[in-house]
Amino acid sequence: MSQKVLVPWAMPKIGIETLRMAKVEPVSIHGPKGEPPSLKEIIEGVRNADVMLPRGTQRIQREVMLANPNLRGIANYGVGYDNIDTASATELGIPVTNTPEILTETTADLAWALLMAMARKIPQAHRHTIAGQWKGFGGKSFMGLDIGPGGSNRRKVLGIIGLGRIGMAVMRRSRGFRMRVIAYDPYKKETVGKMRGVEYRELDNLLKKSDFVTLHCPLTEETRHLIGRRELNLMKPTAILINTSRGPVVDERALLLALESGKIAGAGLDVYEEEPQITPGLLKLDNVVLVPHIGSATTDTREQMAIMAAKNAVAMLKRKRPANIVNPEVFESPEYFRKLEGKRGVGSKAV
Ligand code: NAD
Repeated sequence: MSQKVLVPWAMPKIGIETLRMAKVEPVSIHGPKGEPPSLKEIIEGVRNADVMLPRGTQRIQREVMLANPNLRGIANYGVGYDNIDTASATELGIPVTNTPEILTETTADLAWALLMAMARKIPQAHRHTIAGQWKGFGGKSFMGLDIGPGGSNRRKVLGIIGLGRIGMAVMRRSRGFRMRVIAYDPYKKETVGKMRGVEYRELDNLLKKSDFVTLHCPLTEETRHLIGRRELNLMKPTAILINTSRGPVVDERALLLALESGKIAGAGLDVYEEEPQITPGLLKLDNVVLVPHIGSATTDTREQMAIMAAKNAVAMLKRKRPANIVNPEVFESPEYFRKLEGKRGVGSKAV
């Protein structure tokens, strides 16, 4: 019987092909227009699978993992893996992988596109122009903010929260704009201190000093609502917040109030607290640019992510250490060794 990989979403074809070429059977479940399956369907699917390959926004909780005591791995399609209960996975002997690096530059491009769109009011000006409201130069003129030194000849301050792969790629892009870069990342304090072209700042100081604040930390218990009412109040009234990390890093309700009351000038958002729902008030504002979680959405990048996730899935099936393991401690787990030996899990202690 061939080994099966459950793919509970419409993965790019090249990922499905990669599984087939490795003589693995992909089991895709989704609606005719790519609608995601229900939790019940995922649980049913996982019972007959050896590995599952969810996309980065599908919540994979303990309940799903318990549905199959012999599940050999979860290959997440995405670099962020906050959607997966990794603590349970480790305890249950299930390796979890992600797709780092490959989407770094693409996501940094989007953060930069949102920053530029907000600074120069591109969506607002576009709406005005296509609505036929333009009456010639000098009319409603969409006064924006300089990103480079501009007329004031003052170097603008870019505040990066989370100076990892994507944060660094955003920093590289800022060089052409001659910006001053400051960063907050409690896990990189020493490294950042030794780097050229960036100054380390604690969070409050970064928020007070930045003209643009961009978020690139993962969603963890520590970063949930890292940016709330208090933090938004520290920002300059002219400042712009960009979020391409994860929605819950920002308290969306507090952000709405800050934008409505002019506590900050604007926000460019790719991610939301309760995707695909968006706090309704945000949709009515003119000082936001909202896009639907498209950080890694270029054909090339999404295809490479699919190949990488499929290869991770195959490695786990072939009992090899996958390239992008996020819970390496699983290899110490007795449950992992039980699975390797192929013993049935029914009644086993951890399950
Ligand atoms: P990374 O692990 O290389 O970098 C994350 C950085 O955040 C690390 O340097 C880490 O030390 C830092 N960090 C951790 N906790 C922090 C905290 N409390 N405060 C400040 N910094 C903290 O990850 P990456 O590849 O750069 O990706 C970052 C995140 O971007 C991912 O976790 C994911 O959620 C998100 N992402 C979103 C999209 C999208 O489509 N919008 C695409 C890719 C990644």
